[in-house]
Amino acid sequence: MDFGKIEEKWQERWEKAHLFEANPDSRPKYYLTVAYPYPNAPQHIGHARTYTLADVHARYMRMKGNNTLLPMAFHYTGTPILAMSKRVVSGDEELINIMKDLYGVPAEVLKMFNDPVNIARFFHRDLKLGMKEMGYSIDWRREFTTIDPTYSKFIEWQFHRLSSKGLITKGAHPIGWCPSCRNPVGQHDTLHDVEPEIDEFTAIKFDLDGVSIPTATLRPETIFGVTNIWVNPEAKYVEIEVKGERMIVGSRGAEKLRGQMAEVSMIRELSGSELIGKYVTNPVNCKKIPVLPAGFVDPDNATGIVMSVPAHAPYDLLALKDLKNNSGELSKYGIADAVSSVVPVPVVTMRPSSQSESTSSPPDSEIPAQEVVNRLKVKDQFDPKAEEATKELYQKEFHTARMRPDTGRYAGMPVSKAKDIVKKDLVSAGKAFPFYEIINGPVYCRCGSEVIVNLLSDQWFINYGDESWKEVVRGYLKEMSLVPEELRQEFINVVEWLKEKACARRSGLGTPLPWDKDWIIESLSDSTIYMAYYTISRVIHEKCVDASLLDDAAFNYIFLGEGDPAALKINSSTAEEMRKEFLYFYPLDSRHSGRDLVPNHLTFFIFNHLAIFPRALWPKQIAVNGSVLMDGKKMSKSMGNIIPLRKAITIYGADTLRVSILSASELLQDADFSDSLARSVRSKLQEFFCFSTQYAGAEMLDSYKGSLEAIDRWLLSRVQNAISQATCSMECLRAREAIQTAFYSLQQDILWYLRRSEESGAKARSIIKYVVETIIKIMAPFAPHMCEELWEAFGHEGFVSAAAWPEVNSSLIDISAEVSEDFLKGAVGDTAEIVKVTGLAPTKIFYYVSPSWKWDIYLKLLSLLDQGSDPKALIRDAMKDPAVRARGAESAKFISSISQCAVSMSKDQRTKLLSSERLDELACLKTASQFLSRYFKCQVEAYSSESPAYDPKGRAGSSSPLRPAIYVEGSPCSE
Ligand SMILES: [Zn+2]
Repeated sequence: MDFGKIEEKWQERWEKAHLFEANPDSRPKYYLTVAYPYPNAPQHIGHARTYTLADVHARYMRMKGNNTLLPMAFHYTGTPILAMSKRVVSGDEELINIMKDLYGVPAEVLKMFNDPVNIARFFHRDLKLGMKEMGYSIDWRREFTTIDPTYSKFIEWQFHRLSSKGLITKGAHPIGWCPSCRNPVGQHDTLHDVEPEIDEFTAIKFDLDGVSIPTATLRPETIFGVTNIWVNPEAKYVEIEVKGERMIVGSRGAEKLRGQMAEVSMIRELSGSELIGKYVTNPVNCKKIPVLPAGFVDPDNATGIVMSVPAHAPYDLLALKDLKNNSGELSKYGIADAVSSVVPVPVVTMRPSSQSESTSSPPDSEIPAQEVVNRLKVKDQFDPKAEEATKELYQKEFHTARMRPDTGRYAGMPVSKAKDIVKKDLVSAGKAFPFYEIINGPVYCRCGSEVIVNLLSDQWFINYGDESWKEVVRGYLKEMSLVPEELRQEFINVVEWLKEKACARRSGLGTPLPWDKDWIIESLSDSTIYMAYYTISRVIHEKCVDASLLDDAAFNYIFLGEGDPAALKINSSTAEEMRKEFLYFYPLDSRHSGRDLVPNHLTFFIFNHLAIFPRALWPKQIAVNGSVLMDGKKMSKSMGNIIPLRKAITIYGADTLRVSILSASELLQDADFSDSLARSVRSKLQEFFCFSTQYAGAEMLDSYKGSLEAIDRWLLSRVQNAISQATCSMECLRAREAIQTAFYSLQQDILWYLRRSEESGAKARSIIKYVVETIIKIMAPFAPHMCEELWEAFGHEGFVSAAAWPEVNSSLIDISAEVSEDFLKGAVGDTAEIVKVTGLAPTKIFYYVSPSWKWDIYLKLLSLLDQGSDPKALIRDAMKDPAVRARGAESAKFISSISQCAVSMSKDQRTKLLSSERLDELACLKTASQFLSRYFKCQVEAYSSESPAYDPKGRAGSSSPLRPAIYVEGSPCSE
C-alpha cells in the first residue's frame, strides 16, 4: 500500500466535500482550538504532537455526532521575526545556513527576507501545507494572521475593554530586558524559550566610612542577626556613585543597578581582598561587624556582597566554620581575632511567643541553622546538601516562626509579616532599596545578550496582580476541566505568583496600543481571546468586511450583545450573523497546548476570558501535553536532531507519524520518537491494512446472529469491551491507551479467534469483518487516511471521518464466554510454560480441575473483597462461614494458598467472575480438547481433581479455580 498516494487522495476528497467546514446548525456543537503557530520556522515533529492530539480530539468529537469546529490562524506578532530579518540583512552566516540547509529556503526567496513580513508569509505557507499534509481536519475558511487590519481592530477592542475595567496600568515595574535590543524580553524572545523569573531582593546598606555596602537579601528580617558580611576576595568590585551616594558592588552589579536606578557613575575598580578585615556598621543597631572572605559569594549575583546570618543561614554558618579552620586565610588577612569573636545571634524562634526566653548567648539547640546542618549532616559550604538545608529552614521559618523578644517593635511578629514590614521600614528610612534579580539566570535574548532587569517608568502592563481579578480566576479554576487533572495545582500556583505583565513593545509586528501608538501590543497579550475571533472571521472574509467598520461598538454588539445592531457602521444583518455564529460556537469547549504555555499563555487565556466575556461564555477545558524527544534527547537546532515535519511526512507518511507520536507516551510524559518506532508503527499499519482488506467482501454479521458458538460470542464480547474502554480513554484524551485497546489488543484477539475457531467459513469471516470495521472506526481519528481507504474498500458510502463512533451493543456482551475463554487462554499459557521449562516434547497432557468446594471458597473470598473486606483479615472473615469451617485445615490451607491471587485481581475481573455463571472448567476443557490437541500436537485429557482416572504424580490436589493442575507426559525433545 502506498501511504503517500492514499493520503493525497483523501485530503483532496475531504477538501472537495468541504467536510471539515462547520457552520451553525441544529446539532450540538463542539469547538476546540490549539495555539496558533509563529511562522518563523518550519514545524517539526515536536510541534506535531499538540496539533495532532487536537485534531484527533476534533475527529473523535465529530464522530460522536457533534458539529465540530477546529480552526487555525498564524501569529505574526512580536519581535522574533523582526530580529531574524535583521540577522539575514546583516549576513549572519549561522542563520543563513539554517535557512538554506535545514529549512530549505530557496536563494531567491531568502533575498526577500529583508522584509520581516516576507519571512512570516514564507513559513506561514509552509506550516499550512504541513498541516494539510498531516490531514488535520481544519476549517480553513476561518484562517487569519494577527497583522490583518480586522484582527487589529479586534485587539484594540480587547484593550479598550481591559482598560475600561482598570486592568491596564502604566508605571515603573521590573521586567526582563535586553540591553542590546532595548526591548522587554519574554519567553518567546529568549534563546531557549525560558521565561525570565524576577524576584525582589532588599539591598541593605552597611556603612564603611561613608561608603555604602549594599547586601541583597530575601530575608531582611534577619538584619538583627548579622554577624559579618561576606566578600569574594578573588572577585572584582567597583566603587560607583548612585544619585550622589557612593557604593561598592560587584562589577556586574553596577550594570544591573544602571537598569534599575537612574544615574550610575564609575569612580574606581577594586579587588575584593581590599575590603577584607575592615569593619562596617549595621544600619539597625550600629554594631561594628567585620568584612570576611568567602568563596561561595558569586560576584555576578545581585550586588555581589552578602550579609551573614549564621544563626539562620546554613551557608553562613558553614563558611564561618570553614574559615575558623583555615589558618592560612586568617593570617593572610589578619582576621583571626575578628573571626573568633563571631557568635551566631538568633533572630526568630519557633517557640510560641508567650514563653519567656533568655536574651543571653543561647545554646546550640537555639541556633536553627546549626540544628538543620547537624541533622542533614552537611559537611561544608560546598556540600550540595547545604542548599537543601537552606531551603528547608527558609520554608519552615517563613511559615511558622516569630521574631524574638529582642527585635524591638517587631518582637512576636510572624516572620511572614515581619519580612515585609522590616523591609518597608528600612527602605523608607533610606537604609535599603529594592533590588531586582533574575533568579533563573543567566537568560539570553535571541540576539545573544544577557537579559537584565529593567525598571521601565512608562511601561504598559496588563495587571494580572489585580486581587479581585485573581479572585474570580481562582474561583473558576476550581470548576474548569483540566486534562490531565494533575495540572490543576500548577495553574493555581501560576495564578498566585502572577503580577503585572508588560503588554507592549517599542518594536515588532502587531497592533499598536490604541491610545499610545508608539507601543506595539506584544505576542502573549494579543493571543488571549482570539478563539472568539475565529467564530466571526468566516463572515468577515466572505462578506469582505472592511476593518474601518469594525469599531468598538460593532464588537460590543457581536460579543456582548450591547447596543442596537441597526445603529452600527457595519451592515446590521452582517453583525447579526456574526453574533449568531459566536453564540453558537462559544464557549470554547477545549483549548489544546503544550505544557510550556501553562505559566503564561494558558493562564492569560483564562484571565482575559473571565474579564471580558459573561460567565456563560467562559472556556470549559484546557488540555495539555508533554513534548517530543528524538531518540531520547531533547530536540534542538544545535543537536542537529530536528526533522522538519514535511520531510518526516515524505519519509514515513502522515498516518504513521500521527500514530507514532500519540502512541509513544501518555499525555504529560515526553514522547520519545525514533526512526525505529516509526518504522515499526508503519509496518503494523500496513499489516492491518492487508489483513483487513481480505474481509471486505464478507457478509454482514446479522445473518449469523442465531448460530453463534462460544468462541464467536467471546470475540464479539471482547469488541464491546474494547469499544467501552477506548471511548473512556478518548474522553480523557489518553490516546496511547485507546490505540493499545482498539488496534493492538483487538488484533491479538482476532489471531486467537482464528486459532480457536474450528472452521474459517463465512460466519467467521463475517465476525472478523465486524471486528475489523470497529477497529477502522476507532482508529479513524488517529490514522484517518488509511481508515478512509479501508472504509471505501468495505463498500461504505461517505467518509469514515463522518461516520458514527462505535457504540457498545449490550446484546453482544457475554461475560460467561469471556470468563471461559480467559480460563482456556490461561491454561494454554501455563501448559506452554511447563513444556518449555521441562524441555519435553509432549505426548499426553492431563488437566485436573478444581472441585466445587474450592470454587465455593474462591467465590466467597471474591465477594468478601467486593464488599470491602480488609485483605489482611480475609482468611479470618472467610473462616466465619460454617460451610468453610466444616473442612477445617484443608480450607485454611487452600485459602492461604489463593488469597494473594484473589486480592491482586482487578476489580473488573472480579466483577466478571461474580456476575457470571460459575464456570464449568471440565466441560470447557473437554469442548476445547480438539483445539488443545491440535495446539500441542498430542492427546489431551481433562479430569475432575476429586476422582482423576489417571494421576501418576499426584498433581490433582494442587488445582485451584481457573488454574487447573497440569501434568505433561513426553519424550525428551529431539532438537
Ligand atoms: Zn537582544
